[in-house]
Amino acid sequence: MTKRVVVIGGGIAGLTTLHRIQQQSPETETILLEASPRLGGKILTTTFLGKPIDEAADAFISRVPWALELCEKLGLDSFLISPATTGAYVLVDGELRKLPEGLVLGVPTKLLPLLRSRIVSPFAVLRAALDRIRPDDWPGDDESVGGLIRRRMGDQIADRLVDPLIGSINAGDTDHLDVALAAPQLETASRRHRSLTAGLKEQTKFSAENSRPLFLSFENGMGHLIQVLVNALGDADIRTDTRVTNIENNGRYLNIVTGDATIESDVVVLATPAHQAADLLSSCSSASSRLSSIEHASVALVTMGFRRSEVRHPLDASGVLVPRTEGLLTTAISWGSSKWPHWVDDEHVVLRVSAGRAGDTRALALDDDDLVEALLTEIAQILRIEGNLIEWRVSRWIDAFPQYAPGHDRLVSAIERDLRIEMPGVFLTGAAYRGLGIPACVRQGGECADAALDYLKAK
Ligand SMILES: Cc1cc2nc3c(=O)[nH]c(=O)nc-3n(C[C@H](O)[C@H](O)[C@H](O)COP(=O)(O)OP(=O)(O)OC[C@H]3O[C@@H](n4cnc5c(N)ncnc54)[C@H](O)[C@@H]3O)c2cc1C
Repeated sequence: MTKRVVVIGGGIAGLTTLHRIQQQSPETETILLEASPRLGGKILTTTFLGKPIDEAADAFISRVPWALELCEKLGLDSFLISPATTGAYVLVDGELRKLPEGLVLGVPTKLLPLLRSRIVSPFAVLRAALDRIRPDDWPGDDESVGGLIRRRMGDQIADRLVDPLIGSINAGDTDHLDVALAAPQLETASRRHRSLTAGLKEQTKFSAENSRPLFLSFENGMGHLIQVLVNALGDADIRTDTRVTNIENNGRYLNIVTGDATIESDVVVLATPAHQAADLLSSCSSASSRLSSIEHASVALVTMGFRRSEVRHPLDASGVLVPRTEGLLTTAISWGSSKWPHWVDDEHVVLRVSAGRAGDTRALALDDDDLVEALLTEIAQILRIEGNLIEWRVSRWIDAFPQYAPGHDRLVSAIERDLRIEMPGVFLTGAAYRGLGIPACVRQGGECADAALDYLKAK
C-alpha cells in the first residue's frame, strides 16, 4: 500500500523535507499544505526601487555545509554571490565606531585593535585580556551566551559587541539564549580550552582553510532558492492557501483537518513555528503545552530608499549594530546597497532598518507611519541624511524568532518523546527546534525526512 506523508508549512524546512522524501523514496505519496498564498515563509524577495530586495533573510552562512550542499544539488552554485563590503560599525554613545579586526561572533581575539576601536574602555580591554590567564570557571550545562561572555570577558564586551551581534541574529537577549544553540562556535571553543580566546583562535586557523566568503546570497535575492527548490519538486502536490486547523490521532491514521477537508496520513511533518504547532496538537496536551512555552520575538524591518546625494555618510561597510544600552528603537541598519551588488544603483541608497527584539516591543506597538517616522529620525542623525525618503516598505515579522532559552535542547527532546507516545507519526522540523538559520533549517528538514521514512518502513 502506498504510504502518505503530509508536510504542514512551506518554509525552507518544509520544502527541504519534501524534497528529501521525494529523492529518497519517490514511491511515497506526499502532500504539502501551506496556509499563506505563497511558499518560502521567512524567505521573501520583492521588488523595491526596481531591485530584488529581501524582506527577511538576505543571506546564509557558508561555515556550515547544509545550505551550500542544497545549492549544489539544485545546480545553484554559479548563482551565488557574496557581500561587496565586509566590516560593520557599532553605535557607542551615539557615535559610530568601526568593529575591530579579530572578532569572532563579537568576541575579540586581538586586544590592540579592540583598544584602538574605542568601542569599550581600556579597563574593559584589560578585563577581556584576563580570559587568557583566568582558571577554568565553567559553571556546567545550560549557560547563556551572556553568561559565558560576562564570565570570561566582562560586561562591556557582552553589552557592546556580543549582544548586538548575536542578539540581532536571534532578535534575542543573549543573557537568556542558550550558548550551545545560539552560538555553538563559542560553546565549543570554551569547552575545548580554558581560555575562550585561545579556543576561538584555534577555530579561526581551521576556518581560514575554507576560502568561501562567510555570507552567501543570490543575484535575484534569497527567493531564488525557494523558486528553484519548488521547481525541483516538479508536480508535487503542494496546496497553498490551505491552513491546517487540527491534527488528530484516529488510531490507524493521523487526521489532518483543514477548512474544508480532512486528510488521512501515515506521517505528518509539522514545519510551522512552534506556537502554531502547539495549536495544531491540542489533543496531545503535554507536547502542546511544552511547544507553547517556547518564546518568540517579533521584529519590524523597514526598507528605506534615499537619493544617494542626500546621505552624507560614505556607507563604507555592511551596516551598523545598535546595542540595547543606546536605548534606541533601531537595533541594526543594514546598508543594503553597499552590501549587496544586486541592490546597487548610481542614484539611490537602500537601507534596511531593524527594530524590535526580545524584551523590547516598543517598535511593534507603533503603526507603520509612526514607526517609519521614528526610525527615520534616529537614522538620519546617525548617517547624516539630509533628504526625504523616496520609497519605504514595512515588513513585520511577528513571533518570528524562537528564543532558545538555556535547556531548550532538552525541552525539544521531551516534546519529541511526548509525540512518540501520544501522536506516533508526527515529526517536528524548522527554526523553532535545533537552529534557526537557513542552513540549520535545511539540515533539520533532511533529518526529519529520514526519520519519517524510517518510521514508515517500521510501521
Ligand atoms: C527578519 C528575518 C531575518 C532573517 N535573516 C536571516 C538571514 O539573513 N540568514 C539566515 O540564515 N536566517 C535568517 N532568518 C531566519 C530564517 O529565515 C528562518 O529561521 C527560516 O527561514 C525559518 O524557516 P522555517 O521553514 O522553519 O519556518 P517558516 O519560514 O516560518 O515557515 C513556516 C511556514 O508554515 C506556514 N504555516 C504556519 N501555520 C500553518 C498552518 N496552520 N497550516 C499550514 N501552514 C502553516 C507558514 O505560513 C510558513 O510559510 C531571518 C528571519 C527573519 C524573520
